[in-house]
Amino acid sequence: MSTSERLIAASEARSAHNYHPLPVVVASAEGAWITDADGRHYLDMLAGYSALNFGHRNQRLIDAAKAQLDRVTLTSRAFYHDRFGDFCEQLAELCGMEMVLPMNTGAEAVETAVKTARKWGYRVKGVPDGRAKIIVADNNFHGRTTTIVSFSTDPEARADFGPYTPGFVVVPYGDSAALEAALDEHGDDVVAVLIEPIQGEAGVLMPPTGYLPGLRELTRARNVLLIADEIQSGLGRTGANFACEHEGVHPDMYVLGKALGGGVVPVSAVVSSREVLGVYRPGEHGSTFGGNPLACAVALEVIAMLRTGEYQQRAKELGEHLHHELGVLAGGDAVREVRGRGLWAGVDIDPAHGTGRELSEKLMARGVLVKDTHGSTIRIAPPLVVTKEDLDWGLEQLEAVLKA
Ligand SMILES: *Cc1c(COP(=O)(O)O)cnc(C)c1O
Repeated sequence: MSTSERLIAASEARSAHNYHPLPVVVASAEGAWITDADGRHYLDMLAGYSALNFGHRNQRLIDAAKAQLDRVTLTSRAFYHDRFGDFCEQLAELCGMEMVLPMNTGAEAVETAVKTARKWGYRVKGVPDGRAKIIVADNNFHGRTTTIVSFSTDPEARADFGPYTPGFVVVPYGDSAALEAALDEHGDDVVAVLIEPIQGEAGVLMPPTGYLPGLRELTRARNVLLIADEIQSGLGRTGANFACEHEGVHPDMYVLGKALGGGVVPVSAVVSSREVLGVYRPGEHGSTFGGNPLACAVALEVIAMLRTGEYQQRAKELGEHLHHELGVLAGGDAVREVRGRGLWAGVDIDPAHGTGRELSEKLMARGVLVKDTHGSTIRIAPPLVVTKEDLDWGLEQLEAVLKA
């Protein structure tokens, strides 16, 4: 038995099977590369679902974390700490917003967005108590809490977790007319539309051009908050700070996570206006770890790195190259469709060439790590620090697997 096999058996024996990992045991990593417990090397083309946009153990982020570890790591929000104000100010500025509410995981930030929108609805918009509605899209992925799975349309994510939280209306993604009809039907009770500007988990689904600007107009005209869940699409991945920017859309609220923690610590946040986040009074919401000194120190470095524009530029240029190369592959018979933006692609494989899982395992055997989603789609999202040579090598492995 190899070291990896032994470690996998130990993991499977004592952990809940809520994941089905590829049979690789990561022991160390740097940049876009991973080394497993038996010393084999792999190119990481998943990047922790965009949590590792800046690569594994990015030196700037590790240095920032180490410096903070030597000063203070945790205070709770019972006290102020000396990184908190800077973090909130700089994150708000990056987002073109006014206020920040920090949490830890993405799901917590989405929960915070839901609670905030409801409270804004009651306190500012004047919605009668208990009637607030939030419109969401089908095939959404916003996390795994009881409330969030209540408005999932994925049976796997939802089944056996009821009773479900009411107050959500699901409309088809990308369909402006359906959205307008839902706004008409629920009238002044609608407090928010919650949307992923690109649906990552669903297979990197892009909305039709004009959909997001249309949503922006509809929501603004009806005094409804537009909430963009940019947990996966934001912070450089698409070649911009936010996927919404490509469509010239500025939402009322950004929900951020994943890359905000630099692949070092979980950091998430809701970022919005004073009118919206100003609704909170002490005791109404919180988190022991939210906005802790270590999280703020790492996130401040993430924000500083994003200010250089270097990572967005890499995502844009390498992304154009990636999509060009995938376009060539799509000319063959194995690839049905390629979608995405920047260094982010969903590739639909003809099921005759195997499931996404089988393809991922074959790629793993060739030293490339990707993850399937929804049957026959694979998702390609390497760290933004990947070199063009490494990216090309990874694509060669994909081509070889598809041709085999
Ligand atoms: C990953 C993700 C979440 C949930 O984040 P967690 O940190 O896993 O709770 C929410 N929304 C989107 C779009 C995501 O990609």
